[in-house]
Amino acid sequence: MISVPSQYEVLVVDDSPVYRKLVEQILSTEPYSLLFAQNGAEAMEMYHKHSPCMVITDWMMPDFSGIELCQRIRADKTRLYTYLILMTSNTEKGNVVKGLEAGADDFLTKPFDPGEMLARIGVGRRIIDLNREIALKSLKLEEAARTDSLTGLPNRRAIEDWASRQLRGAARHGYWMWAVMGDIDNFKNVNDTFGHDAGDIVLKTFSELLKKNTRASDICGRLGGDEFLVVFAHVEPEQVETTINRFREQFAALSFPFKGKSVKVTASFGATGFHSKDAMEFGVLLAKADQMLYEAKRAGRNLVRVSLP
Ligand code: GH3
Ligand code: MG
Repeated sequence: MISVPSQYEVLVVDDSPVYRKLVEQILSTEPYSLLFAQNGAEAMEMYHKHSPCMVITDWMMPDFSGIELCQRIRADKTRLYTYLILMTSNTEKGNVVKGLEAGADDFLTKPFDPGEMLARIGVGRRIIDLNREIALKSLKLEEAARTDSLTGLPNRRAIEDWASRQLRGAARHGYWMWAVMGDIDNFKNVNDTFGHDAGDIVLKTFSELLKKNTRASDICGRLGGDEFLVVFAHVEPEQVETTINRFREQFAALSFPFKGKSVKVTASFGATGFHSKDAMEFGVLLAKADQMLYEAKRAGRNLVRVSLP
């Protein structure tokens, strides 16, 4: 995933030590951290390593041209936008057009005036700031679209994406993976008797308990309503029921102080495992866990039912 930096790293590409020094001096009082490259190949290496937000490159270089450097950087869609300034001693209109077409954002004509250079870089910084703002907002939106707002847990979509990847890993590396569905018993009664806010407290408490019992390498989320899912790996079949019973017992042991009463709530769990070299759709695993949950409900609730593959 793209991360949004708060620093301004600027890569200066020029084979002339005099120009590199000149740029360094002009930018010495500004909040930029500078990187230097002497040719195109070195510039690409630095670009891949540091992902600078701005590249100021010479037009003519010993290996490939500034134009080619712009094209290569623009072809990379995996990073945040890089602001590109081409430095040239050639002010011909044709070159300006070629440079812009290759992906440059702006030009500086050598020998450049320090004030103009700072102003043009300032324009670049405004664009970079805007891009970062947009990137941050879309990261937040993406996160919100994958998070359940009441419990803060991953939602169905996020769990399904994660679990599908884990399932492929389990098939490839031959480890056990489990899908555990948990559903609060007679939850409608909690809402009806003590109100929706009380119901929300129960949902949040249940989600915290699941989260507390889920290792960092595993995942738990809310499928919707009072239905939750825990997916964990690397647990052998003999330990599964004990592990899930721990969730069940901890939850049943809690008391909720609603309307002056000490209210007990329980949950039922249905689980199924996967251990195969052949990949499987996560939906198939989920459907089986749901079936087991139904069995647990039918058998009286506050129970765990596990099916082995
Ligand atoms: P069972 O033991 O069979 O699971 O019975 P139940 O009453 O828990 O099952 P049911 O699916 O009928 O009830 C789930 C209820 O959860 C219905 C719905 O109004 C309530 N619900 C869904 N989302 C929320 C929520 O975000 N907050 C609250 N307070 N209630 C919710
Ligand atoms: Mg329920």
